[in-house]
Amino acid sequence: MATRRMTFRLYPNKQIEKSLRYHRKLHKDLYNAAIYNRFTQYQKFNHKVDYFEQQNCLPEFKEVWIEYKEINSQALQATLKRVDFAFQRWFVGLGKRPKYKSIRHYSGWTYPAKTGYSVESNGENGYLNLSKIGRIQMRGKAKYWGKPTTCTIVYRNGKWYASITIDALDQVLKPEILPTGAIGIDLGCKAALSITDGENHQQIEAPKFLRNAEQKIKKASKEKRRKRAPNRKKKIKASRRWKKSQAKVSKITRKVANQRQNWVHQVAAEIVSGNSFVATEKLEVKKMTSKAKKGKRKKQKSGLNKSILDVGFGMLRDTVKYKVEQIGGVFVEVPTLKVRPSQTCPKCGHQHKKTLDIRVHECGVCGYRQDRDIAAAEVMLYWAKGTLPESGTGFVGAEPSSSTSCTRKKAGSMKQLGAKKRQKSTESFARNELRDVETHSSGGANCG
Ligand SMILES: [Zn+2]
Repeated sequence: MATRRMTFRLYPNKQIEKSLRYHRKLHKDLYNAAIYNRFTQYQKFNHKVDYFEQQNCLPEFKEVWIEYKEINSQALQATLKRVDFAFQRWFVGLGKRPKYKSIRHYSGWTYPAKTGYSVESNGENGYLNLSKIGRIQMRGKAKYWGKPTTCTIVYRNGKWYASITIDALDQVLKPEILPTGAIGIDLGCKAALSITDGENHQQIEAPKFLRNAEQKIKKASKEKRRKRAPNRKKKIKASRRWKKSQAKVSKITRKVANQRQNWVHQVAAEIVSGNSFVATEKLEVKKMTSKAKKGKRKKQKSGLNKSILDVGFGMLRDTVKYKVEQIGGVFVEVPTLKVRPSQTCPKCGHQHKKTLDIRVHECGVCGYRQDRDIAAAEVMLYWAKGTLPESGTGFVGAEPSSSTSCTRKKAGSMKQLGAKKRQKSTESFARNELRDVETHSSGGANCG
């Protein structure tokens, strides 16, 4: 059995929304009461209250606060567990001292077992029944579906969600046949993603909204700075205009974040649908920033917003990695400092320096001509497969494990594959599939 989590957006009607808000408030009040109880007991009586003591107090508590009788008791316990969790984290030094939460910062509540809620869905859309609240329409599509085990209601940015965990059978999690494609990806800094399988090349531009987002956010925050900001020390309250423009800034930021996430998931899903072997550069943080800054202004800007594009590409990379590994494929991170994809010819392995402004790879030895980023993607793909032609310096600087063997040309990647496979412990069919990819490609791509 494996546990999966799926989040559905909820569409409550007005009356149910009111009820959801009310329940959230009650859980928030219980949370704060539990924190207060722990602190005061300790300060006044030097008594450490633990979770079970609070849980045992619940029936008594409900006699006084009768509105809590309406609420699923396991959900109430789950809220006390949240308090306990916050304290545990604080005790071991992982978190800060637990704080009282305002309703604005209180996300929701959890049904930890199969009571208090029921789900009418086969994994795509459907309805959620919450006891004492009602039936709520929900939208969303789960990739894997099974029996719901826990359900967490979350209120975020004016929207309601249900985060449902399910038990899914293992075989449901992996497709029957692994997609056989193998590709290299160069994640550019100038808004393009270069993908190649050795024969077909594709470049994907970052969508316009990603490129424009930074400008929009900057403009909105500039307007905000002109309004009267709050200052606690000087006891200045924020002006209405400031609040308004603050709302505008966060609206744009939120929108961009949503758009970015949609884009990332779309592209990643497309990549993984046909490929189970993906090679891309190991992330060198230093390189990203040095590429990003061009003059002082740009540097300031990247400090302010951390460059929305870079974040998008980072997310894309992580998502592809996650998806590839989830289906039992292989995600190879190419050490760019050693392999130097942008300075190497994919066809003959010859290395020569290209400055950043040279956008075309043109080999002086074999005459191969290709877009710079596509060529880099090819180098990464061939290196990962072990079919990158050697040329003197080619593999000398590579991973020590790969350069010691006498058949080092292939050994590097086979070893990597072995390590990855062991780590993932994929099923045997996946291994066979990979071997197929491996042998197949080494025949085709050797053209030096
Ligand atoms: Zn060449």
